[in-house]
Amino acid sequence: MKITYLGTGAAEGVPAMFCNCAFCKKMRAAGAAEFRTRSQVLIDDDLSVDFPPEAYAHSLRLGVDLSALKYVLVTHSHMDHFYAHDFILRGYKYATLNADKLTIIGNDEVKKVFAECTRREMKTEVSENIEVKTVGAFQSFAMGDYRVLSLPAQHGTTEEALLYYVEKQGKGYLHLCDTGALSDGAIDFLVENRAHANIITFDCTFLDAQPKAGTRHMCIADNLAIKERLDRAGVSDKNTKCVITHFSHNAQPSREKLSEIEKRYPVIAAYDGLSLEI
Ligand SMILES: [Zn+2]
Ligand SMILES: [Zn+2]
Ligand SMILES: [Zn+2]
Repeated sequence: MKITYLGTGAAEGVPAMFCNCAFCKKMRAAGAAEFRTRSQVLIDDDLSVDFPPEAYAHSLRLGVDLSALKYVLVTHSHMDHFYAHDFILRGYKYATLNADKLTIIGNDEVKKVFAECTRREMKTEVSENIEVKTVGAFQSFAMGDYRVLSLPAQHGTTEEALLYYVEKQGKGYLHLCDTGALSDGAIDFLVENRAHANIITFDCTFLDAQPKAGTRHMCIADNLAIKERLDRAGVSDKNTKCVITHFSHNAQPSREKLSEIEKRYPVIAAYDGLSLEI
């Protein structure tokens, strides 16, 4: 399985969209290598975890063929993770397709956002090729060659945000983004379903800041505490790669600072375009 980190910033991006702080000014001046767009992870060539406003820009910059996408797993409906407007362009006069159906999977709120955002411009012949399926936490389902487990995130009370474990040909990928701590129930569910992660993606919005109890995002200390629990449960081990992402401008995630972090902690700091093979 190939895991490509197309976007590695928090909702506001790095430099932050409307921000004029000293750090963002510095990142803006430094150029594209320091830019972090909104969260998107591509698995092989046909499965995208989330679909942010930059999905199109990612495809141009990183050579992604969006017509090859068969599945989009959506973690939650926040705008940095699900920009539904773009799906009106998948067909009609806007696209020639080899016409595999696109399946979008998310919670009830994702389904509602899809309906709201495409209401004005969606053509029938486009919507016929897009299926939006709802899923809750603690479900196990297949999508083509993929086996997927859904887990509850801790990410506020307005919707049930989800985390996903994705497996193909004996390799496992665990996506823990836009969440605070992981519940015991989530770990139990992974164990019961014999999940084993070769890569774990961690929400590291706050980077090396002190953890705050009850938060909807994490820092490195939170990530490492979860990794220890997953190791103890046998869901991961010492060979599992821990990739941190979803950085906020407030944490000042420059490439230089992140390479220092990589020396201090057993993590790989994602950047836009990082690709890992498992
Ligand atoms: Zn987010
Ligand atoms: Zn800023
Ligand atoms: Zn969010």
